Amino acid sequence: MQSDFTFSIIKPNAVRTGKTGPILSMINEAGFEISAIKMVKMTLSQAETFYEVHRGRPFFEGLVEFMSSGPVVVMILRHENAIDDFRKLIGATDPAKAEPGTIRKIFAVSVQMNAVHGSDSFENAAKEADYFFSGIERF
Ligand code: UDP
Ligand code: MG
Repeated sequence: MQSDFTFSIIKPNAVRTGKTGPILSMINEAGFEISAIKMVKMTLSQAETFYEVHRGRPFFEGLVEFMSSGPVVVMILRHENAIDDFRKLIGATDPAKAEPGTIRKIFAVSVQMNAVHGSDSFENAAKEADYFFSGIERF
């Protein structure tokens, strides 16, 4: 089933280096509509819960430490075919493999610090959005 929304995070490396504005601008220019947005700093345990599916992978500990290292911007984004179109806009997980002009190609500094998160399925987008936003915070 296709979704008309996705969930995204601007990761700590990008927020820390002042890339929030430029990334939001690319998201806007690509036609995504912001239906929820806020800045949060996750605890280590909250980051572990968010990335629970990756527990046990060799990169898990470093990833959750990184994701809880500073504030992030969490968002729900509306667009037709949102999940796939957003993953196209952000590019491959590894910035070295990302297409030119994608957000990760431009703003990632490594596979781990790859600037943005984008949900990979309808189920996960719904779950991730519910993890961060209550009913009165989304429009
Ligand atoms: N990651 C990492 N090393 C890896 C693979 C992934 O540090 O070898 C990090 C990276 O930040 C990535 C996140 O873990 O965005 C989640 O991995 P996933 O495979 O779900 O990639 P994504 O869906 O974010 O493209
Ligand atoms: Mg993923």
